[in-house]
Amino acid sequence: MIVVPLGVSSATPTVNRNLPSVALWREGRVFLFDCGENTQAKMLQAGIKRSKIEYIFISHLDGDHYFGLLGLLSTLNMQRRNAPLTLVGPKRLKKFVEFNLDIAEITPEFELNYVELEEDFEEEIVVDEDEFYVKALPLEHTKFCIGYRFQEKDKPGKVDAKKASQMGIVEDTQFKELKAGNDVELDDGTIVKSSDIVGEPRTGHSFAYVTDTQYSPNAIKLGEKASILYHEATFGNALADRAKETGHSTAEMAARVAEKAKAKLLVIGHFSGRYTNEFVLMKEARKIFNETWIATEMRPIMTDPEHENGIITPRVKSNQKAAKQLRKSKNSYNHNKKGYNKKRTKKRKTFKRRSFAGSNNSKKFSEYYTNKRGGQHNKHHDKKDDKNRQNKPKDNPKYKPITPRTPFDEYNRF
Ligand SMILES: [Zn+2]
Repeated sequence: MIVVPLGVSSATPTVNRNLPSVALWREGRVFLFDCGENTQAKMLQAGIKRSKIEYIFISHLDGDHYFGLLGLLSTLNMQRRNAPLTLVGPKRLKKFVEFNLDIAEITPEFELNYVELEEDFEEEIVVDEDEFYVKALPLEHTKFCIGYRFQEKDKPGKVDAKKASQMGIVEDTQFKELKAGNDVELDDGTIVKSSDIVGEPRTGHSFAYVTDTQYSPNAIKLGEKASILYHEATFGNALADRAKETGHSTAEMAARVAEKAKAKLLVIGHFSGRYTNEFVLMKEARKIFNETWIATEMRPIMTDPEHENGIITPRVKSNQKAAKQLRKSKNSYNHNKKGYNKKRTKKRKTFKRRSFAGSNNSKKFSEYYTNKRGGQHNKHHDKKDDKNRQNKPKDNPKYKPITPRTPFDEYNRF
């Protein structure tokens, strides 16, 4: 699973942050959590195909969390999408979408399904597929708000085929039995135990999306041992009162949830516009839960980097090599420079001795010297510089840029 925050602001966009949305990529399928204004543009920038979205989960009906829906739906329709799309969210979501599409005279050419949750629901599995399910729980905000957990189902352990055939297993049905956890009896009466052939089951990864809530026990349930717990941290400690008033969390509350839930990683987002440096919030959270990261727009978070690095290649990692090269060539550049200075001094001396030794005309000398030196200098420098330039990584085809300017630059598209 790859989780890509697309918008990490709260309430209103700021110069650097967009309205809430998080994309989850799994084996080529895309799931959106909230869809604030500008989500579709951010997806484009992050290189996540909008056509691959299958489900959109809306946390609640505060405009900043779903006003991007109409634009996105309109784009999907213009792209002639024909795959079905399911919108999951609080009751009235369907009414909102249909009413607005009707006014815009848009009739989706694709199947648009809705899963709506009533305000008094306690817990619900909103999606259930072979490989994963999504669970919803109510949160505690000023209005009805839903938290989600995307859970991969555990995979059965790997079958050791070599060992199995050594023990006399040949038929497919026998393999299936073993994989299902049943022991198999061979013709000669020997029993092959499933546990001898099949490895430990692999636990599925999980992603919990908890936004717009104050400290809530349901948030802990959603984040229980989650691979990634995305929790809102609208305010810092100093504004804990304001958090309470508005039904939001402080960074410390998010950290407490992560700690109690024993989450593997806490990612905080939904920052109030007043924090230009969100690392202040990270610092507060890390006092309680050290595995805390800041949600950065378009910077992917992987649950299984070994597997997922092949899908999106982080440029930065591959550039560690390039950085080494750069350092190396920089050293040789400096070295050359030193040699160059030395040589120049020598030359000046020769020049002085030859042309002006014993001369009293100091003005003439200085004039001539300056001009000459300028000329000499440039000529010399250019020649040397050309040579150095070849060593500079810029012209080296192996060199890749190593200083990403934005999080977008850090990863290749996927
Ligand atoms: Zn919000």
